[in-house]
Amino acid sequence: MSTTSRPVTMEKITNLCKRRGFVFQSSEIYGGLASCWDYGPLGVELKRNITEAWWRDNIVAREDMVGLDSAILMHPKVWEASGHVEGFTDPLVDCKSCKQRFRADQLSGPKCPECGGELTEARQFNLMFRTFMGPVEDTASTIYLRPETAQGIFVNFQNVLNSSRMKIPFGIGQIGKSFRNEITPGNFLFRTREFEQMEIEFFVKPGDDAEWHERWKAERFAWYQRYGIRREHLRLREHGSDELAHYAKGCADVEYEFPFGWSELEGIANRGDFDLRRHSETSGKDLSYFDEETRERYLPYVIEPSAGVGRPLLAFLVDAYDEDVADGEERIVLRLDPRLAPVKAAVFPLLRKAGQPEKALVIRDVLKQHFLVTYDQAGSIGRRYRRQDEIGTPFGITVDHQTMQDDTVTVRDRDTMEQVRMPVERLATELRARLAPSAPPPHDVDGAARAAVE
Ligand code: ATP
Repeated sequence: MSTTSRPVTMEKITNLCKRRGFVFQSSEIYGGLASCWDYGPLGVELKRNITEAWWRDNIVAREDMVGLDSAILMHPKVWEASGHVEGFTDPLVDCKSCKQRFRADQLSGPKCPECGGELTEARQFNLMFRTFMGPVEDTASTIYLRPETAQGIFVNFQNVLNSSRMKIPFGIGQIGKSFRNEITPGNFLFRTREFEQMEIEFFVKPGDDAEWHERWKAERFAWYQRYGIRREHLRLREHGSDELAHYAKGCADVEYEFPFGWSELEGIANRGDFDLRRHSETSGKDLSYFDEETRERYLPYVIEPSAGVGRPLLAFLVDAYDEDVADGEERIVLRLDPRLAPVKAAVFPLLRKAGQPEKALVIRDVLKQHFLVTYDQAGSIGRRYRRQDEIGTPFGITVDHQTMQDDTVTVRDRDTMEQVRMPVERLATELRARLAPSAPPPHDVDGAARAAVE
């Protein structure tokens, strides 16, 4: 389990999430729906900031990527071609005594881990949610909620090629909901039955795949650190040949050290030409690529960096969580990267009189045109800082008696707790500079990938 002494536990994270409105249990007033979660006012901001950072870095900032938003419901043949109808299964066992169900590959012994009872033989359980399209509920109308967003990209490969003039090597990324009827969901947001994914399918010439696989491993491993996750809590783990999914030539997972142990944030697989080949065969449509320069026609190979959103969000929260002492008082502080923090600044009047609240509200309204900014006049200034520290707000702006004379405010930094005085008119520019997306560092592909694996 954990090798580092950190103040964080899953209980502290789930309590904070509920108390401050990051995450609520789905349908809570009806007793909750197992393993489904709702993002509250702060959670939805954090989630949007994560997906926007991903989109900006992987789609907008790159010449060789475009985006897509495909439908959740797809033709049932898609899932036959992709191998999901036949092969997207987990081995399921039941306890004959307490009737609980387990994934056979996650059990450490032959008995029920809950009651010690005898287990049934394992049988394969398909993880796709099935439903019906249209008014008739029969096999002809059976469709699936997609278990990954990737297939929406493969079936649109030719559409994107024909409409965007992209040339190989290039990739298509998308963010969207996926659904898996997991046998044993759990660990809060880590394994849920409805979740969001951020997926890239990067198409390359066969033979160039190994090099692109290394590049994407390095790039994605660096991305989590760029947004604040500590290097020592991340590792790249190569899959053994017995672990590989049915489509994969090779795969490495970016893993994070959660309080419950090292677990996958993102898988980066080399899918070869499996998907395009299967869709070509099943649909009868030619999905090959013609290289104008070399006059060659081939089926591209695919490198797939596939991340969830909930798992990285949980990792960002866990890694940011800290407890320390500020002004002689214990505080919880979320040291989130300012670009991910849900609320960017809080504006406080020192006193609830002398024109200070009115002045603070004007500042809030001006800044609100740029970022999510909040106003708080309740309680001592220390308590107000503490309330913001706990949700990761990077900047605290205080209006005091001097503000009323020279139009300057103090800006307090969440991490260093240092305060600097600055003119009100500089606030927006200053905060914008501090919240600007940083350009991804040019990475040394081989070195970074090697360092990451070692
Ligand atoms: P695991 O082995 O943990 O079940 P997986 O290897 O099946 O995961 P992938 O198919 O590689 O997962 O999916 C890519 C990413 O999607 C994962 O790295 C994870 O971040 C996210 N993901 C997959 N399943 C879930 C789930 N049930 N709940 C939340 N996120 C998920």
